[in-house]
Amino acid sequence: MTANPFISVDAIMFWHDWAQILSLSLLGLVVAYAITQFAAASSTGAVARRLSGRSLRAGLLIGLTLVGTVPAAALGLMLAERSAHLRHDRMSSRLQEAAVSMARAVDYFMDKHLAGVTGAAHAVIKGGRYDSEALSDWLLLYHEIYPDFLTMLSANAEGQIVAATSNMTGFLTPLAELRGHNVSDRSYFRRPLADGKPFISEVFQGRDLGRDPIVAISAALTDDQGTRLGIVEGSLNLRAFGHIDAERPRLDNSVMVLVDQDDRVIYATDDAEMAELESISGDPLIAGATGLDQAGSYDYVAAGGDQQHRFLGAFAPTRTGWTVYLRVPLDQITQQMMRDYMVSAALILVACVLSLLLAGAIVRRVSRSVADMNQAMSCFRVDGAEESLETPENTPTEFRRIFRQMRRRSRHLRVAHDRLRKSMEAGEALRRELTQAIALKDVEISERTAELEATNERLSGLSKEDPLTGIPNRREFDAFATRVWRQGARDKTPAALIMLDIDYFKIFNDRSGHQAGDECLRQVARTLRDCASRPLDLVARYGGEEFVAILGGATVNDALVVAERMRKAIFDLQLPHPGSSFGMVTVSIGTASVRPSADATLASAIKSADEALYYAKAAGRNCIVFSEDGEYVTYDAHEEDWGTTNVLSILASGRFNSPG
Ligand code: GH3
Ligand code: MG
Ligand code: MG
Repeated sequence: MTANPFISVDAIMFWHDWAQILSLSLLGLVVAYAITQFAAASSTGAVARRLSGRSLRAGLLIGLTLVGTVPAAALGLMLAERSAHLRHDRMSSRLQEAAVSMARAVDYFMDKHLAGVTGAAHAVIKGGRYDSEALSDWLLLYHEIYPDFLTMLSANAEGQIVAATSNMTGFLTPLAELRGHNVSDRSYFRRPLADGKPFISEVFQGRDLGRDPIVAISAALTDDQGTRLGIVEGSLNLRAFGHIDAERPRLDNSVMVLVDQDDRVIYATDDAEMAELESISGDPLIAGATGLDQAGSYDYVAAGGDQQHRFLGAFAPTRTGWTVYLRVPLDQITQQMMRDYMVSAALILVACVLSLLLAGAIVRRVSRSVADMNQAMSCFRVDGAEESLETPENTPTEFRRIFRQMRRRSRHLRVAHDRLRKSMEAGEALRRELTQAIALKDVEISERTAELEATNERLSGLSKEDPLTGIPNRREFDAFATRVWRQGARDKTPAALIMLDIDYFKIFNDRSGHQAGDECLRQVARTLRDCASRPLDLVARYGGEEFVAILGGATVNDALVVAERMRKAIFDLQLPHPGSSFGMVTVSIGTASVRPSADATLASAIKSADEALYYAKAAGRNCIVFSEDGEYVTYDAHEEDWGTTNVLSILASGRFNSPG
């Protein structure tokens, strides 16, 4: 016996547990699944592909193999388990039957020998009298018939042996030396003599003739009057039960034990290793039967060496009050059961292989049709021939339908494809038209944009220009003068302002007409503009017949030079003016030169120049008045050579106080 659970006796209990059966089935299932997975992966050629996505082929293979294997596995395990039960039950009932038949055989054996003793007793009293002469002969005759008796004897009513025979040496002989021995103390003498009934003694050890354990069978010698004259006794050799044991139905490694009422061993098969006449009431073979009234069988465990062994026991009572016990080790059942499981495993394996083969065949059939369809689809072109979707020969009905559907769909697809192509062509034409239209529009837009830009430019020019004279207007002057003023303040450089007004212009208008007045204004403007043309100079129409000029960086002297140049230039135009005392168009000029600062603002400078102009008018017109340190000085250059003389040293023909 080894510790392997599959062949230990405890395995019976293990296998009986259905929960264990189920978990083992589950284990089998997992193993089968793993096998099919492996088979599927290798059959499709790549484990990697199997991991990334299962093919129909692999799925079918796994499914069908599982369908074949799992029921076979479950059935195999169930059958193996049932078979273990059946084996145990059959063994149990066979052992039980054997125990009963052994008990009957013991009964028969005892009955037979009881009949032998009573027969001998009758023969001795034959004819109603005690025939002591023929006694020995009768004993010899009966002993010959019942050779299992070790000895037979007859004692008189006093217990003295009168005749005896022996079979102890194997030869039947009279035993004259026992004559006179007294057996009156023995129960086999006293009991039949007291009640006249045949008697079977307890087992005891022989005394006078050998020391074998024996059982004595005795019967009273009773004459016609009922007087008990003595007894006849036969000592039965207990080893004679070996004959019965030999007839026992063969059960592998089984042993038989016959015990008396006190559980003392009467007979035991040699393999049982039990000594005769010893009490074995503590032995589990006996203890296991406790509680079972009649014959029965039971499992029990007994220690054998340092290991535990499981046995099947059975017992049956005999009429003498003795009990027959049989026992058989259960190891063989577990071993047989293991063989059953092995067979089951082999069957499962075969079922798995067969399922795999069958599944393979089915899968090939299905996958061929799928491959056909795949091939047909890969050749299919919307603008190609319809024949590419022809159903191949031997295609199963289901796939024929799919092919039919595919052809129908392909026709629809072709129609839709044609429509789509035409629509796309129309769309393309439309797109070209639109592109052209957009290009034309783009040209138009860019032309319009250019026009607008030109108009804007013109408008912007107009907003800076005086429409009558074409020189900058007052708004442009304000912007320019402000810039010059700021620059002067930053650079700490002076700036000069010149205010001009045409003399007696109202009269000019009145006399020469408004048109001529306008023309005069244009000529004066052009002339003034030409007199101040440095980058920081600007001449503008200030309003009506008044003009203004700013000269960035100009000192009083510079301003006077320019002012005089202007006055002279207008004078030199020689525009006739009948209303003027000069006879021609002249201008009066006021100037101011200032260093721009927080106090000396542009406005205040304009005001100074304007006041100077006022004084120029007052001084007789066609002259220049300049503002210097709050004073206004008239400059009259009519008779001076202006270009070569220092202005400040020669001016001043008169001085004015501020009008304010
Ligand atoms: P003074 O010498 O004092 O400046 O006399 P004046 O007549 O020039 O003075 P006043 O300012 O009274 O007259 C200015 C005239 O200028 C009045 C107006 O008829 C004329 N005038 C103003 N703007 C225009 C214009 O754009 N065209 C024409 N033709 N005349 C104008
Ligand atoms: Mg005026
Ligand atoms: Mg005027």
